[in-house]
Amino acid sequence: MKLNLEKCEFAKHQVKLLGFVIDQLEHHDPEPEPEPPDYPEHDPEPEPEPPDQLEHHDPEPEPEPPDQPEDDPDLTTMDPRKMREQQLRDPTCNDLISWLEGHQALPQQRPPAIISSFEVEDGVLYHLREYSDRVVKQLYVPLHLQTQALHLAHCPPSATHPGALRTYQNLCNSWYFPNMLRQSREYVARCPVCQRRKGSAVRVPMQGHPPPEAPLVMVSADLMDLRSSSRGYRYVLSIIDHHTRFLQLVPLRDKTAERVLSAFMDNYITLFGPPDQLHTDNGLEFSSNEWRSLLETLHVKHSFSVAYHPQSNGVVERSNRAVKDALVALVQRAPSQWPIHLPAVRLALNTAIHRSVGDQPLYLLTGRMALFAKGLTNDQTPDEGLMVKRLSDARRLAVEVSLKTHETNKAYYDQRAKATPTFEQGSLVVRKVEGTRRPLGDRWLGPCRIVRQLGPVTFDVLDLQEPYPRVHANQLKPYLPPSELDFAEEADQLPRPVPVVASSSVVTLIDELTSESTV
Ligand SMILES: [Zn+2]
Repeated sequence: MKLNLEKCEFAKHQVKLLGFVIDQLEHHDPEPEPEPPDYPEHDPEPEPEPPDQLEHHDPEPEPEPPDQPEDDPDLTTMDPRKMREQQLRDPTCNDLISWLEGHQALPQQRPPAIISSFEVEDGVLYHLREYSDRVVKQLYVPLHLQTQALHLAHCPPSATHPGALRTYQNLCNSWYFPNMLRQSREYVARCPVCQRRKGSAVRVPMQGHPPPEAPLVMVSADLMDLRSSSRGYRYVLSIIDHHTRFLQLVPLRDKTAERVLSAFMDNYITLFGPPDQLHTDNGLEFSSNEWRSLLETLHVKHSFSVAYHPQSNGVVERSNRAVKDALVALVQRAPSQWPIHLPAVRLALNTAIHRSVGDQPLYLLTGRMALFAKGLTNDQTPDEGLMVKRLSDARRLAVEVSLKTHETNKAYYDQRAKATPTFEQGSLVVRKVEGTRRPLGDRWLGPCRIVRQLGPVTFDVLDLQEPYPRVHANQLKPYLPPSELDFAEEADQLPRPVPVVASSSVVTLIDELTSESTV
């Protein structure tokens, strides 16, 4: 089985790179005798469900198709004499042939289908499958050749990796063996090519973010790429305070860590002082040693969200969208002029009622409403005491509104969410291809290995494709090793950490990293 071996070698190479010890797999032990499958009375009828939905893998271990020894004869070119030899190696076949040729009164084992549907011709055992308009004579494939049959029905260019149902139908055209549909499902679920091509991730429920009680305690920073402008600017550093939603926007020519750090110092720290916590994604521009040492010096806790998963920092995501919408409205026919309009956008957003906090960000921060002259109706209140009281009420209200908004968003988002899957340390997964994907490229990369769980839904994975090793549960799905490279057993031997339990006090952010952060 040439193709299978190639696949096997490729998979072994990948597994080696992932740090597996596969010496035992290099020299195949004598083929383990598989348990005889539990035969139903009839071959199960295909179910109407679409065969491509493979995202939910049954954790129940199913009987593995046997390994394919290198010297197995080719199913497609065997003559009847050779075929008979192979069939006699399978106890069930042997039994049926013996009975059909009159050597015994009844089969010793329960036959896998109605006994009258088997016949022997030229010494070879067949199964007769009756359709409404025809009868198909299916060659009975002995146990040790079933993987080869599955491969031929699923992998060659003529088959092009169909789903389980079509793989099963391809098998039915020529071959028979017990539990073909179940084995087709299992084979397709474990096919490395299909696992990288098909399936979708499970959307996990949105995590809780209690809003900070006071301004400037927790801020997020992010970079927007707005493409080049006439003045050589390309990026915008946006810094937003979670309590007030006060926004700072700084145009940048490049996004080196040094440039971004210096902009953060000049446009935030020197104006407002250090926050308690800074939240960014784990892009290189925010995770350099310079950043780490500055934040350590200032006693700022640095937490990270996941690249390519903007939902994990919804505050920044919504603010970025608002900035872009406002810029689009202002630049009109000269998009390269966007840096000129950036200050106006900042003012507009900071002085508009923010839906998430129910008040002006500028007012919540400074206690002063920014009102542009419209006559007698909007004068500032002169009473100092009243102003202080109103501000404290407004800030309290901002927290309540913020919580409520989050709950509404969460309820909407979670309608289509499923329970968070548990990916245990050491388990194998495939990772969603993010960013620009080649038109016909794989949708999933891998296999990768879960290195550790960072937060309720965030994981570090060991991957052959840098540079995004930190991923959200929405970007992962379990990987099932192909049966001929069964390293699931080895993964089982790895220490299994207790899954992180998300208590509400812990979940101040999706992905809180402690000092042991290595990024
Ligand atoms: Zn496949």
